[in-house]
Amino acid sequence: MSFVSTSARLRLVKPVVRQAGAANAERPPMIIAPKIRGFICTTAHPEGCAQHVAQQIAVVKGRGPVANGPKKVLVIGSSTGYGLSSRIAAAFGSQAATLGVFFERPGEADRCATAGWYNTAAFENEAQAAGLYARSINGDAYSAAIKAETIAAIQADLGQVDCVIYSLASPRRTHPTTGEVYKSVLKPIGDVYTNKNLNTGTGVVNEVSIEPAEGDDIAQTVAVMGGEDWELWIDELQAAGVLAEGVQTVSYSYIGPEVTWPIYKNGTIGRAKEDLERVQKVLDAKLSGLKGKAWVSVNKALVTQASSAIPVVPLYISLLYKVMKDEGTHEDCIEQMDRLFRDRLYSGNPQPDEVGRIRVDDWEMTPAVQALVGQRWVEVNTENFAQLGDFEGYQSSFLRLFGFGLKGVDYTAETHPDVKIPSIA
Ligand code: NAD
Repeated sequence: MSFVSTSARLRLVKPVVRQAGAANAERPPMIIAPKIRGFICTTAHPEGCAQHVAQQIAVVKGRGPVANGPKKVLVIGSSTGYGLSSRIAAAFGSQAATLGVFFERPGEADRCATAGWYNTAAFENEAQAAGLYARSINGDAYSAAIKAETIAAIQADLGQVDCVIYSLASPRRTHPTTGEVYKSVLKPIGDVYTNKNLNTGTGVVNEVSIEPAEGDDIAQTVAVMGGEDWELWIDELQAAGVLAEGVQTVSYSYIGPEVTWPIYKNGTIGRAKEDLERVQKVLDAKLSGLKGKAWVSVNKALVTQASSAIPVVPLYISLLYKVMKDEGTHEDCIEQMDRLFRDRLYSGNPQPDEVGRIRVDDWEMTPAVQALVGQRWVEVNTENFAQLGDFEGYQSSFLRLFGFGLKGVDYTAETHPDVKIPSIA
């Protein structure tokens, strides 16, 4: 079933990646434009991604230094979305050395890299210019080999880390010992779920019905997006002695409004998030000897590569953006992650909720915001969506994930797709 179809509006931007001459025989420059396939964009723009990273750095710098922030940070899933913003917030808010792990495709002479590759190249260049240590490891974070490589890098360069961010979002996981491949699905549990849905390409508000989980869908999703791999990482880092006293580790979750609960909180992905909360308690106990702390941080719904694949959620996000922008409380990943570090993890007052979770979804979940979004959810249809929702904001956020639509970037200029990441090249 396809939930999000090709963007008619985005199709107006000619979806081409074309070679534009061979001035450099080895690395011919290209003009790179968006190429949308369902809910992903298969191209990415290096200068646009660099500009997106620079804008995020500017947000953090503009807020000034974080007192008592982390000094050496490992970010697992550091190349896009919340993980990238975590890395930027730690580096440019706290002057932290950062080690990033991710799974991205490098560019070739005539083929774009994935956005996360360009983001990381830009991040490392900016970090280097600011005199900050930054090293990156590209590979399967679920594997034993990448865990070992990461530990070796910490031992060689940093000694220990005092913060570990776990921000993976993946459709599949190969188990490191059994070799079994698990697949995560986004399905309700028990009953068919029918609700309003946005065609993010056309702006048509239609209805979607999603069949409930069957067979071992729940167990498979928990195996990919639950806490087992987070626990494996912390176990192996701790066994190697590379976790500093007072280490904090954080994994990200989402709760959201009742209207999305059948597909999120009470669906297969919700079961995986419950498992993260189980593991958070296990890790708390394991880290107590180090006076360490594990957290689950519940973050705001935002347009990322992962969230754009979830049915129903893009319509909710469009309505939410409109309400929060109108009331001046809208945040993107960088503002969220800056607030997580500045006002929660390193403020001396993390403000946990009744079950011990950090809540930076607090502004999203205020009764006033939820009441207005809820009212508009009932009213919204294709005709009034332009007034009630922030479709333009949704689409421009989506394009920005891939480096498109950023001010100051000349998209008609030729560019080289095979950008190097300094620490990987
Ligand atoms: P994203 O798709 O932007 O980022 C995923 C990251 O994981 C990337 O860096 C990618 O390279 C990396 N990755 C994926 N598979 C990997 C593998 N096998 N090995 C190494 N790296 C791998 O996703 P996101 O939305 O930033 O999600 C990050 C976390 O935040 C998830 O746990 C998600 O559930 C949570 N979250 C997201 C939202 C939201 O609205 N986007 C809200 C709350 C919580």
